[in-house]
Amino acid sequence: MEIEVFPIGGYSYIGKNMSAIRIDDKIIIIDIGINVDKVSQFGEREDITNKPLKELYDLDIIPDDSILENYKDKVKAIILTHGHLDHIGAVNFIAPKYNVPIYASPYTIELIKQQEKEYGIILPNDLKKISPNSSIKISEDISINFINITHSIPQSLMIDIQTNKGHIIFSGDFKFDNFPIIGKKPDKEKLKKIGKEGVLLLICETTRVEENSKSQSEIIEKYMLYDVLHSIDTKGIIITTFSSHIARLKSIIELSKEINRKPIFIGRSLGKYISAAENINLYNFSKEAEVYFDPRDYKKVLERVEKNKEEYLLIVTGHQGEPGSILDRLARGEYNFDLSNTTVIFANNIIPHPINEANRKILEERLKRRKAEIIKDIHVSGHGKSQDHIMLLKMLNPEYIIPNHGDINKKASYYNIASDYGYTLGEDIFFLEDYQRKIFNI
Ligand SMILES: [Zn+2]
Repeated sequence: MEIEVFPIGGYSYIGKNMSAIRIDDKIIIIDIGINVDKVSQFGEREDITNKPLKELYDLDIIPDDSILENYKDKVKAIILTHGHLDHIGAVNFIAPKYNVPIYASPYTIELIKQQEKEYGIILPNDLKKISPNSSIKISEDISINFINITHSIPQSLMIDIQTNKGHIIFSGDFKFDNFPIIGKKPDKEKLKKIGKEGVLLLICETTRVEENSKSQSEIIEKYMLYDVLHSIDTKGIIITTFSSHIARLKSIIELSKEINRKPIFIGRSLGKYISAAENINLYNFSKEAEVYFDPRDYKKVLERVEKNKEEYLLIVTGHQGEPGSILDRLARGEYNFDLSNTTVIFANNIIPHPINEANRKILEERLKRRKAEIIKDIHVSGHGKSQDHIMLLKMLNPEYIIPNHGDINKKASYYNIASDYGYTLGEDIFFLEDYQRKIFNI
């Protein structure tokens, strides 16, 4: 049997993730993301839909899949691991080239449907909702098993391509969260069983692998926020966090009730991820909170909050300092909203990129000028750290490993761990750059 890995995006740096795996004459595509950092340079995401496909490739915004040009008829399925933009943001541009179904969890499929509206590009592909711990058959000798895993967006999946000769595991973004706020714990039993059956190849993310620790559970985040909220003595409280982090948004609602404040969500991207969650009955935000994502409503609701700040907890967009976000507009004074006697909590980290760092610096300076108090970095990561990776390695015991979702430093950090478990660079662990194909004869 021949296994070939096509590293199309996400192997040289984080962003525009796309992989293809060939098993003899059948190819599975996994994830088709955008380069979020590059898009943010163009302002609103909609702007990119007007650009011709070639320009999007040239600008490095979407993965360049020309490497698959001669293999199109061999592609059997597109699989999406989870709904973050660096994993699904370019699906609408690239998936139509392949006449195959797209398989993803219900939440991810909802986000794809939202993207169809946003981009104005309806996908000709069949959208197939699959539940975690289910399987599909690609051919007589290849099935794909979807394994429930925890990350920072609901219904994330690890992908197991099962062949006659063993398993190929694609980790997707993951951490081992033993106390997730939404969804089930990772299916460790299944991973151990797969490990015993024999794993030929593990393709593994490395985003936080250099941190010599265990990734903290989202329940720790809830306690951190609980603690912070109890230490605040200002009238106004504003929290900003990742709009796609549905579990964290749910925690914030529960905590705001604890401190007798009514939660109000404001911002377009919050609206997008919240309505996707409501569409599949993941959590009913509208029942527990007020949610505003139409800009025509913002002024009125903020005027109401302004009058009785102590009664509300505002959750807004703008954690990376994005120009045009609600927090950016509040900081610029666009809404006539007094920020003195108000605490702004950043329940996120800054995604490392010069643009984000500059935007956040400007935002914080503006907030301070308006006399807001700032509490930063109330955040636990959605990515596995060294201990999570060790756990996965021990459970799967793969024959070969390809670290991805990071640059050479991340891969080297991964190698540091793997070498303790007997792996040798160039023999059974391989560093691939984007477009650098690798064949295994099994
Ligand atoms: Zn992710």
